Amino acid sequence: MSSNFPLNHPQLCNLASDFPTPFYLYDEQAIRDNMKRFTKAFSIFPVFREYFAVKACPNPYILKILAEEGCGADCSSLPELMLADMAEIKGNHVMFTSNETPAAEYKFAAGLKNIINLDDITHIEFLKNALGGELPETICFRYNPGNLKQGCNNIIGKPEEAKYGLTREQILEAYKICKAEGVKHFGLHTMVASNELNPDFFVDTAKLLFELCAEIKEKCGVRIEFVDLGGGIGIPYKPDQKAINYDEVAKGIRAEYDRVVVPAGLDPLEIYWECGRPITGPYGWLITKAIHEKHIYREYIAVDSCMADLMRPGMYGAYHEVTVSGKENAPRDHVYDVVGSLCENCDKFAVQRQLPKIDMGDYVIIHDAGAHGRAMGFNYNGKLRCGEVLMRPDGTFKEIRRKETVDDLFATLDLDGVKDFK
Ligand SMILES: *Cc1c(COP(=O)(O)O)cnc(C)c1O
Repeated sequence: MSSNFPLNHPQLCNLASDFPTPFYLYDEQAIRDNMKRFTKAFSIFPVFREYFAVKACPNPYILKILAEEGCGADCSSLPELMLADMAEIKGNHVMFTSNETPAAEYKFAAGLKNIINLDDITHIEFLKNALGGELPETICFRYNPGNLKQGCNNIIGKPEEAKYGLTREQILEAYKICKAEGVKHFGLHTMVASNELNPDFFVDTAKLLFELCAEIKEKCGVRIEFVDLGGGIGIPYKPDQKAINYDEVAKGIRAEYDRVVVPAGLDPLEIYWECGRPITGPYGWLITKAIHEKHIYREYIAVDSCMADLMRPGMYGAYHEVTVSGKENAPRDHVYDVVGSLCENCDKFAVQRQLPKIDMGDYVIIHDAGAHGRAMGFNYNGKLRCGEVLMRPDGTFKEIRRKETVDDLFATLDLDGVKDFK
């Protein structure tokens, strides 16, 4: 996806003189346009909502932009709930899809009237106790289809080996219990994919959930009002991969809706997603500068960033497209490992990659870093995480998160205590 980078070389040089590298750059207009396409595709359902997975890009400025485009927020921790609240995403526009959740976090979410998505049958009792004896009006359950769902890729793995969700038997029981406890509104959720590029996979997931809704109605007398299809829509990180066609997925799901949901008397059934990656991923870049070159058994280019800013390549061996600003059309006649400064040999943004000749001071752009990028950063090796810059639709730039400082890094230490410590 190298073609969508919004700045030419002189523009990037100007930007980097105002915001020294490394930093993340996000393209607001592109995020908005993509979100509009996504929403339009799913407008063929009576009610549709995307709950943006906050973990993918936990910046309240980005959340505000998405909220303006109609998004809610999918949260999995107290700070994520707080971020959604800061971005003025409220009430049932927040889905709390957490797992192994502390009681205080359930209480916080319930206080804000957020939708609580339970990950286990035992959590009904746990939630009730956390809330002082009463369940919320609306409850959603996360379904784990076990071996009923085939073809899952290996980031989440086989459902029957995944820690998430309730089994089929448990979920029927869970709705019965909640109905008896006076819960009024119900949802059903699953998330069985990550970075999946096959549209049929999502149609198949929807079919599975729709059929389960019909079964729940029949066996539990519970009408499911919304189905949350989870996240997992992939993006084409590699040049030979193709982006998911939202319209194709929406139409495929609509066909299952007409086949299963309508005859079961469950129409209107609200359709939710909680995608992160396809919403911001392709519209964020990690901007770095080449600062060292090494010629040993391989050719190395070291940039002024490291996997503390973008963990995916080091952690999963994930591919991210790399381009060199101003050399977009130069022949890719060199083979480099593009590396960072961490004392870990997996700290490589690209391995044995064909690239144009890189000179010291060149800006090296790591693409498709707008989701699960800055968010997964860490401070190992004393690395200070980089900041985030937003390109506004009018072409101006706004720093939406500053770089970390050593003071941030040491903020949890009592430094005076160290002086006195013997
Ligand atoms: C990670 C996650 C998402 C978002 O996944 P993407 O691959 O970024 O779309 C949504 N829901 C849950 C429960 C998740 O764990």
